[in-house]
Amino acid sequence: MNFLDSEKMAGILESRGFLMSKDEKKCDIFIFNTCSVREKAEEKLFSYLGRLKKRKRDRNLLIGVCGCVAQVEGNRILKRAPYVDFILGTRSFHKIGDVVEYLIENYGEKIIDIEMDSSPYPPEVKEIKRNELFREYVLIMEGCNNFCSYCIVPYTRGRERSRRLINIVDEVKRYVNVGAIEINLLGQNVNSYRDPEGYDFPDLLSEVSKIEGLKRIRFTTSHPKDFNEKLLSVILSRKNICKHIHLPPQSGSNRVLKLMNRKYTREEYLEKINMIKKSGIEFGISGDFIVGFPTEREDDFNETMSLLDKVKYSSIFSFKYSPRKGTYAEKNFKDMDEDIKLKRLMTLQNFQKEIQLKLNREKVGKIYEVLVESISKKGETLMGRTEQNYIVNFKGDESLIGKIVSVKITDYSAQTLKGKIIY
Ligand code: SAH
Ligand code: SF4
Repeated sequence: MNFLDSEKMAGILESRGFLMSKDEKKCDIFIFNTCSVREKAEEKLFSYLGRLKKRKRDRNLLIGVCGCVAQVEGNRILKRAPYVDFILGTRSFHKIGDVVEYLIENYGEKIIDIEMDSSPYPPEVKEIKRNELFREYVLIMEGCNNFCSYCIVPYTRGRERSRRLINIVDEVKRYVNVGAIEINLLGQNVNSYRDPEGYDFPDLLSEVSKIEGLKRIRFTTSHPKDFNEKLLSVILSRKNICKHIHLPPQSGSNRVLKLMNRKYTREEYLEKINMIKKSGIEFGISGDFIVGFPTEREDDFNETMSLLDKVKYSSIFSFKYSPRKGTYAEKNFKDMDEDIKLKRLMTLQNFQKEIQLKLNREKVGKIYEVLVESISKKGETLMGRTEQNYIVNFKGDESLIGKIVSVKITDYSAQTLKGKIIY
C-alpha cells in the first residue's frame, strides 16, 4: 500500500514537471513516505532525517514527511526534526503537487495536513508513476475497522472506505490496454470491500476477472474472519485469479487470538484452510505471525508452531510484537522480555524453513507457468513467480521480463525453486 502511495506521489509530481533522481546529492526535494506498523520502521525515518539536517544548512532543501508516521506523529515530527517543511498524512498525500509548488514559492513556511478526510470514497488519483508495464497495483479499499489490539493501522489509515466498482474496473482496463498482465488488488482488508451499490469483494473479483487480456489477478490482504465460500468459489471458477491466498493468522493460540481481538478461533481459521485444501487445487498459502504478544506463554507459542505444522504455509512473514503507542495492547499489557521474543521468532522461522524445504522438494519435476519479473544483479538468472506465488529462478534472456513462460523445476532451497525454461 505504501509502495503504491509513493507511486502516486511520484506520478503527481512528475505530471507537474518534477523529476525523480536516484542520486541523493542532486536532489532539492526529499519526500519520505513512512510506515509505522512496527517501531523499527519509524526509527529509520528519524535516522534518515538526521542525515539531511546538515545538508540543509548548506543548501535550500525542501523536506516532507508523508504516510503513516506523519499521520500519527504530526506536529511531534517537527519537535524532533524542525527542519522538516511539510507533513502530509495518509489521507492528504494526494495534495503533494500543490503543497510542493506552494512551498517553493513561499520557502520557509511549514505545512501540516493530517486531517482524516471523512469523505466516503478514497480520492481517484490518475497520475501514478508506472515502473513496470506488465504488473500494476490497484487500490480497492483503504482503512480498517477491525482494531486488532496490537495494530496501529486503524489509527494511521482511518475507517474503511471502498472505491466504486466501476472506477476500479476502468482503471484495470486502462492498464490491460497498455500491456499489463498482472493486477494486484490492494486493501488493508480486501474482503471487507463494499461498493455503495452493494457489490462485495467476490463480486468485484468476478468483474475484474472478466477483463479480456488480464492474465493474473492477485489480492492482499484477506482477513480470515471474512474469508468465505463465496470468495473461494469465485477464485476457483476463474483461471486468471491466482491460486494464492495470504491469510494471516497472527497466532495459533485461542487465548492469544482473543487478546489480539482477531475475531476468530484457531478452529475457525483451520476450517477455512481446510476449505481451500479440499478444493484439490494447488494453492500457495501464506500468512503473517506475531510472536511474543504480551502474556504469550510457551504453550501458546507451541500452538502457533502446531498451526504451522498443520497448515504447511508456502511462505510466511513473522514479526516480534512491537508495542505501538495508543493501541489497546500498548495501553493495557506489559511488553515481554526481548530475548524471549527473539528466541521464539528464531524457533518459528527455523521450523518454517524445514517445512518449506520439504514442500519445495516435492515440486522438483513439476512444470509451472511463471511470470518473469526481473533479472538477478549479476545478470545470470531470471526471477519470476508462479500463480501460487512461489519464487522461481532460472536461466533466460532479459527480454522475457514481463512474459509468462513454462518452467520445469529442477532444484530448490527453502526460499526459492530453481528451474529450466521449457520452450
Ligand atoms: N490487515 C492485515 C495486516 C496488515 S499489517 C491483517 O489483518 O492480516 C501487516 C502485518 O504486520 C500484520 O499481519 C502483523 O503480522 C504485523 N503487525 C501489525 N502490527 C504489529 C505489531 N504491533 N507488532 C508486530 N507486528 C505487527
Ligand atoms: Fe491491523 Fe487487524 Fe486491521 Fe489488519 S485487520 S490492519 S492487523 S487492525
